Amino acid sequence: MAELGRWTQAARGGLDTDTGRGAVVPPIYLSTNYTFLAPGEPRAHDYSRSGNPTRDVLNDALAHLEGGAGGVSVTSGMAAVTLLVEAFVPVGGRIVAPHDAYGGTWRLFTMLAATGRLTVDFVNLAKLDEAADALSQPADMVWIETPSNPLLRITDIAAVSALARKTGARVVVDNTFCSPLLQQPLALGADFAVHSTTKYIAGHSDVIGGAVVSASAEDHEKCVLWANSLGLTGSAFDAYLTMRGLRSLDARLRVHAENAEAVVDAFDGHPSVARLHYPGLPDHPDFQLARRQMSGSGSVITAELAGGRAAVDRFLDGLQIFHLAESLGGTESLVCHPATMTHASMTPEALAEAGITDATLRFSVGIEARDDLVAVVSEALERVG
Ligand code: PLP
Repeated sequence: MAELGRWTQAARGGLDTDTGRGAVVPPIYLSTNYTFLAPGEPRAHDYSRSGNPTRDVLNDALAHLEGGAGGVSVTSGMAAVTLLVEAFVPVGGRIVAPHDAYGGTWRLFTMLAATGRLTVDFVNLAKLDEAADALSQPADMVWIETPSNPLLRITDIAAVSALARKTGARVVVDNTFCSPLLQQPLALGADFAVHSTTKYIAGHSDVIGGAVVSASAEDHEKCVLWANSLGLTGSAFDAYLTMRGLRSLDARLRVHAENAEAVVDAFDGHPSVARLHYPGLPDHPDFQLARRQMSGSGSVITAELAGGRAAVDRFLDGLQIFHLAESLGGTESLVCHPATMTHASMTPEALAEAGITDATLRFSVGIEARDDLVAVVSEALERVG
């Protein structure tokens, strides 16, 4: 018998488990509660907040793909962030986080710092000397987001994990932009991989979700308990949709990548583009690190247009295919203006520090026909002039 690879096993998660009726795809268990065999004798599940068979299928597939001891799927990516903070950062503890983290993560850490729950230092973790400096002081958690959102900076997961070990800090990698198929943070030394499954994993822009995969069984048990206690666990229906999306992740990512490369070519060197951020470009400052750490470059591209906000408006005016919307990783192509959308909660100083300007546009390249994507981007660039 052939030994099935990790991807095949994960994508086939739960298939053929309905021994009663032989359903190929496992049914959704919507029931909130499960009968006990006798007082004190529960079955595998008792109450769906604490455990649900449909969620189990997704949790196991994610843990398998990330190479972790277990996965916990929750109601959103931000619920996954909340879970890790509550479970592993003591009151008054310290987080070191990237200065260009996803705006919602930045906002949550900043709000928690304002209440005195914790302290946070935002630094450029893509620069190892800045990471080392921040980690020369005791810390409880290092939050890595690589590639970063929206400027696609690359943080060296193995090197920062090694620095974190010395201070006893837990290492979290937000792996949303890559999915477990393009980057394996736990194998590089991280303690946790976190996802907004809303993005590539679910992949169809129709379900909000998040997940935490822990490297160790002990941490996983802690996450299970905290997710249940905080009431963060996701619904069975959302787990079903997310698993449905996950089954096609590998195929989708291959088309996303081909299309992204073609769109990058359309942007690259065009006089209307002041700067182009994409880890697959040889002139990306961390091109070599990205090649080592990731098994693909992803399909998010960020461009800084020449000509400021006026150029952005001209680019967007009449742009076809790309919807002006937040989020990324769905089958449809999207464009976002981070300064006024995803990162709007950051202060002007924090935006400037992160390098996000009024002329920055982030693209999530979808799986439409490649030639059409290239045609509409080229046309929009001509409009900018
Ligand atoms: N992490 C990253 C990198 C994100 O881009 C997002 C959302 O855009 C989140 C976390 C938060 O996820 P959610 O919107 O599912 O709460």
